[in-house]
Amino acid sequence: MTSITPQPVDWDVLASELAGIELITEPTQIAKLSLDYYHFSTVLQAKLSDKRGDLVVRPLNEAEVLRVAAACVKHKVPLTVRGAGTGNYGQCIPLNGGVILDTTRMSAIRWIKPGLACVEPGVKLAAFDKQARATGWEMRMAPSTYRTATIGGFIAGGSGGIGSITYGQLRDRGNLHAVRVVTLEDKPRVIGLRGDDVQKVNHAYGTNGIITELEIPLGPAYAWAELIVTFDDFMTAARFGQALGNADGLMKKLISIHAWPIPSYFLALKNYLPDGKHCALLMIAESCLEPFQDLVREYGGQVTYQKTAQEASRGTSLAEFTWNHTTLHARCIDPTLTYLQTFFFTLDRVEKMYHHFGDEVMMHLEFLRSNGQAMPAALQIVRYTTEERLNEIIRYHEEQGASIANPHTYILEDGGMKTVNVEQLKFKEMVDPYGLLNPGKMRAWLERAKSTIA
Ligand SMILES: Cc1cc2nc3c(=O)[nH]c(=O)nc-3n(C[C@H](O)[C@H](O)[C@H](O)COP(=O)(O)OP(=O)(O)OC[C@H]3O[C@@H](n4cnc5c(N)ncnc54)[C@H](O)[C@@H]3O)c2cc1C
Repeated sequence: MTSITPQPVDWDVLASELAGIELITEPTQIAKLSLDYYHFSTVLQAKLSDKRGDLVVRPLNEAEVLRVAAACVKHKVPLTVRGAGTGNYGQCIPLNGGVILDTTRMSAIRWIKPGLACVEPGVKLAAFDKQARATGWEMRMAPSTYRTATIGGFIAGGSGGIGSITYGQLRDRGNLHAVRVVTLEDKPRVIGLRGDDVQKVNHAYGTNGIITELEIPLGPAYAWAELIVTFDDFMTAARFGQALGNADGLMKKLISIHAWPIPSYFLALKNYLPDGKHCALLMIAESCLEPFQDLVREYGGQVTYQKTAQEASRGTSLAEFTWNHTTLHARCIDPTLTYLQTFFFTLDRVEKMYHHFGDEVMMHLEFLRSNGQAMPAALQIVRYTTEERLNEIIRYHEEQGASIANPHTYILEDGGMKTVNVEQLKFKEMVDPYGLLNPGKMRAWLERAKSTIA
């Protein structure tokens, strides 16, 4: 059986084999680069806060990644890839120490063509998007951590975000065209995956290959106006969001709906968010604003904030109050708050849960496109009491037909996926026979290892 056999590691020897590659050995720096935003989850705080890598490597290109991979295989040392470390589930936290491979120096943009681009994994989303927009194209979707996150980290650890109302999620066919990955075999090599084969490593938390290059599709770049619309009643705001999502003639990038008191956490926007009102934070193509106003009127909304794309580009984008930034703002005011990630599928279910949980689970909807339909998803803010209560809340949602992508676990399959991804497991068996890549995160691998031992 091939599996990771713990053995003493001579870090000086390993480091000397990596001569010429940038290394970080200073403990405070290593500690910082070992963690991510796992602390959004009270449950994960207790499990992950003391986890540390032993050495950080910062390769400049694929050739250096191959050298790092070879050294890790030779010494049987775990290797965890890190982009910007903004993941929320401890995805890039090394559970068993070892090498942290920081990709942020691999930030080349190889080419941008109409509708498609090729990049290295460490490029920051905003930096890349700026260049793409100069050609009339833009990233199809981005997380609200757009300014700091890397493309490799978004693909390996994220799911979707601003833009998902038009293009769906990263896992949807067509939202990732190709990747190159470095393996952790006895002789590490580079494998190119295209088409459906990319799903082998898409959202796999870096457990089955180090992504060194990606081809990603682009969408036409619109001038996105930013608006806040307020409503007296939450369900009217939610229905407005659904109607806007369904409105095929209106170009939009963001439909984020917040039940009061969530708007009270957005301190920087307080002049536009009257007490007790529910709000929609929106990005709408400037060219669609006239017909958009008619929709606002139909639902009795009040536009309290409106910026052109150019004005919006000078300050903080409304996007930075949406998706998981909503949780960030809420936790700045009350650090005991945590969150859930839910697919409600229908507004009836949203309404039922809104009334059932009241203030304990505050409703924050993000509309996205799923199988061609606009659908209410959510990152609700939860008043955390105990893990048992949190699990009870999750169970109740599931019993009522909602699907929860549990953000309180670092195990890949226990989050959104729910089942073992056989393709990803098979790929891992081939490219990472010693189980060195981000160990402890893929349940299928852990269970396979257990059954091999038995
Ligand atoms: C406030 C806040 C808001 C957020 N909003 C969103 C959102 O709207 N949508 C969303 O999807 N996520 C969101 N996230 C989560 C996260 O920011 C994004 O998914 C982001 O794109 C991750 O990028 P990163 O560079 O920080 O990745 P990291 O956190 O560094 O890594 C994420 C995972 O990818 C792996 N990985 C990184 N690079 C590679 C590589 N080259 N090869 C193989 N594996 C790799 C890591 O091992 C890890 O498992 C949010 C997080 C925060 C804190």
